[in-house]
Amino acid sequence: MTTETANCVPAGLDELGALAAAVAELESRPSSQFRTLREPAGEIRRRAEELGAEELHHRADLLLASVDLREGRIGEGGQTAHRVQAWAERHNSPYLLARAHRQLSVFYRYVGDFSDGLKHAVQAVAHLTEDIPVTIRAQHLMSLSVALEETGSRVEGDRRAQEALALTMADGDHEMTSLALNNMVYSAYENGDEAGARALVAQMHEIQARTGHRFGANELDTMARVELMGGHYDAVEALLTPVLADLVAANEGDAVAECQLTLALARRLAGRYPEAQAAIDANLRLCEERGLAAVRARVREEQAALYAATGRFAEAYEEHRAFHAETAALQSVQREARARALQAVFEANEARRASEHFREMAHRDALTGLYNRRYLNERVPALLLEAAAAQQPITLAIVDLDHFKRVNDTLSHATGDTVLQHVAELLEEAMPGSGLAARMGGEEFLLVFPGIGLEEAADRCERLRLRIRAHPWGPITGTLPVTTSIGVTTSTDGTGTLPSLLAEADRNLYTAKHAGRDRVVF
Ligand code: GH3
Ligand code: MG
Ligand code: MG
Repeated sequence: MTTETANCVPAGLDELGALAAAVAELESRPSSQFRTLREPAGEIRRRAEELGAEELHHRADLLLASVDLREGRIGEGGQTAHRVQAWAERHNSPYLLARAHRQLSVFYRYVGDFSDGLKHAVQAVAHLTEDIPVTIRAQHLMSLSVALEETGSRVEGDRRAQEALALTMADGDHEMTSLALNNMVYSAYENGDEAGARALVAQMHEIQARTGHRFGANELDTMARVELMGGHYDAVEALLTPVLADLVAANEGDAVAECQLTLALARRLAGRYPEAQAAIDANLRLCEERGLAAVRARVREEQAALYAATGRFAEAYEEHRAFHAETAALQSVQREARARALQAVFEANEARRASEHFREMAHRDALTGLYNRRYLNERVPALLLEAAAAQQPITLAIVDLDHFKRVNDTLSHATGDTVLQHVAELLEEAMPGSGLAARMGGEEFLLVFPGIGLEEAADRCERLRLRIRAHPWGPITGTLPVTTSIGVTTSTDGTGTLPSLLAEADRNLYTAKHAGRDRVVF
């Protein structure tokens, strides 16, 4: 290519493509790398704004919001996520909407509103389209899993974590795999299932040994909770000390606070009261700084328990009252959320089914209900690839009604429509299993036989032809017969394209018509 032709490309287009690719790469980074996002996302945001590329600008904004949330600037992060959500809604951008809902889910969980956390997590999954990268789908499923668990729907939460796990394992994404396992461990912990929890932790260690994956604060906290179940307080200390020394990526805004709380609990149970108090004090400061209402309420509960353990019952009582005052609001929200959890999940499934329904409709012909041309254009190339991979034949047949114009002209267009519907039913009947029948347009249909060679397919077409002419047409067309001509062609190993195979089948169809119609040519 000469430089002249290169210069013909509008300067902005190239750059926009590059920016979009850069944003997509940042979006797919594992959450533990959130510290690496701010600079490139800020740069992309600035450039996208200059270029007037609004969607890219908002995607970059959302990345910055995710950093804010994780670094403890929860209010700022939440505001940005709300703004992006509003924009995505106005501009009908499902992807951006799904991304914004996911950050909003994180935001509401941090501030202790689990009900809204769940609502947004549900939307974050519901707005994903089929073509979304696996990593992104797994991220969103994980957010939904966490939100479900936090509102008490453990079974549903576990199911989403397992879905995410299956995706990430297939994709070889070990960091996400470890995080999905981590969620499952936490759920086993909450169920008091120590053996189950330990088996899952062993899987996390296996991933670490195999890939060198470094556990994040969340994962270490979960493991510490499992150690707590067995009364291994030293092990808790050993796991969590590096987090507090900030040697470990705290990949959630509340992860460090959660670790502090676990530590305080372990120290109290081990009888190390002053150290337990130190952990609580540090934690309260952190929660205050970051606005972590949900964790703070639990820290106060732990404070009350510590007072009681050290015989300071009056203070324990006061602290308990404070804890109850603080959690009353949170708890009523949680109760409500629990009641709505199943409803929300139900709606998510419904939304998914509805969108599947619409996708399906877009692939169907309105008159006959058969697949349409658009579906063939999408599906046949994929079937050819599958045939090539399996070194299997695939056969196509064009079915065209004979002298169909006569039906329309001598009877009526409505009668013609009825004939088309009956023929469609007969085609459908003739194509069990993996074969498909489609209406290409007018009175022309296409049959696709994956894995079936020329002779057998021609045989089936012959039977179909006889079946159509023998159909009791009398009540519909009177004395006018309904017959078909069929042109068949095959690709023995998946080579060839849809247009080239259609052209060949069409040539055979033409031959059939000229030889007197009502016959199969291959
Ligand atoms: P041949 O045997 O050579 O195929 O003759 P033909 O009359 O079937 O072929 P031709 O292509 O000349 O005419 C096809 C007719 O199909 C013309 C059109 O009126 C009719 N047709 C196309 N779509 C529809 C439809 O949706 N409903 C009805 N009733 N008729 C349709
Ligand atoms: Mg015809
Ligand atoms: Mg025709």
